[in-house]
Amino acid sequence: MTTIAYFYDPEVGNFHYGPGHPMKPHRISLTHSLVLRYGLHKKMKLYRPYQATERDMCRFHSDDYIQFLSSVTPQNVQNYTKYLSLYNVGEDCPVFDGMFDFCKMYTGASLEGAAKLNNNQCDIAINWSGGLHHAKKYEASGFCYVNDIVIAILELLKYHPRVLYIDIDIHHGDGVQEAFYLTDRVMTVSFHKYGQYFFPGTGDMYEVGAESGRYYSVNVPLLTGIDDTNYLQVFKPIINSVMEFYRPTVVVLQCGADSLGSDRLGCFNLSIKGHGECVEYVKSFNLPLLVLGGGGYTKRNVARCWTYETAVVLGEQISNEIPYNEYLEYFGPDFLLHPEIFTKQENLNTRQYLDNIKSSVMENLKMLTAAPSVQMQDIPSDLLSLENTEEPDPDVRNSTDDLDKRIEPNNEFYDGDKDNDKENDGYLDV
Ligand SMILES: [Zn+2]
Repeated sequence: MTTIAYFYDPEVGNFHYGPGHPMKPHRISLTHSLVLRYGLHKKMKLYRPYQATERDMCRFHSDDYIQFLSSVTPQNVQNYTKYLSLYNVGEDCPVFDGMFDFCKMYTGASLEGAAKLNNNQCDIAINWSGGLHHAKKYEASGFCYVNDIVIAILELLKYHPRVLYIDIDIHHGDGVQEAFYLTDRVMTVSFHKYGQYFFPGTGDMYEVGAESGRYYSVNVPLLTGIDDTNYLQVFKPIINSVMEFYRPTVVVLQCGADSLGSDRLGCFNLSIKGHGECVEYVKSFNLPLLVLGGGGYTKRNVARCWTYETAVVLGEQISNEIPYNEYLEYFGPDFLLHPEIFTKQENLNTRQYLDNIKSSVMENLKMLTAAPSVQMQDIPSDLLSLENTEEPDPDVRNSTDDLDKRIEPNNEFYDGDKDNDKENDGYLDV
């Protein structure tokens, strides 16, 4: 039986990026409310997540950047003016009340998800508050401050020889790609809108990785207006080939919901079912899986999408009629889980364009003649017998203990002290 762990901090939805800012953490509360009202919590283990420490964050980020994030507040920001541009904090990534606490929560949840997968305490871990894929080693970017994905992948690398990262956000997963650009231990695969200066501007098909990581970064640049049929027609064969050629031992899936039609910032035309079909397809490979959120700026549709995807992960069918909940007014006038999504964008992806992208990606994958030869060492069995602490109670609970029990196995593949040994780039040496 598949065990699903779901991480939710009841405080995470209370943070505000500021008036008019499109990123609204409240979408996580909306999602959680639907998850409860559909009764999905009864089918999984709920955890109030661990909060990441500065030390956890510095496994990827530079000490000075994290020191800055932990110190700056709206009250003292005038003392930090020269650092704001250095760390790209201020506009897209504003200093808001509790900003660092927010980072600790979403990062801790992804990290704990990774730790539970490592310890075989679950088969699939879900953190809808995570997936902040743009954050860089030395700077904030695209509403992201701390890159919870990179930090979770570093934890997975303690036990897993090959980690596959898949990103279905409309934006390129640049922060994760950059961190692992030089290594074959992580393959990053990003499907995104590319061109016309669309943020962040990277993710061309020709970015394939470098050095030992050559051909381990996969980019699928798509055009405005892509629909379910077109998207799945590239997504499924590419992921199938990636699985075949790379043979990952664990998968991290970033489910940014800004690739849905009618997103406030997006220009794709996926339906919630189409988006969910990607999740279902990835799940069908039966590998340990870390499911994360990401972008998504039309709150009601983000909540619908991630609730539906929670059900997909659980293998549960849920009604199209949204059950009564404290946020019901958000889901009118139809009160449906799968409302008709109105096409705002013409689909510019021609058959020829998509076939061309697909065959280029396939050619690159064939360059991976065999899976890389990272060997696993035996993990002492006593490290795997962590106490099983789940509670069937739907109330989220504090599971800090689990992270206190996080252990440093003696088969670590990278040396934490050496992670930050490169002065002038954001690449990780793993
Ligand atoms: Zn995005």
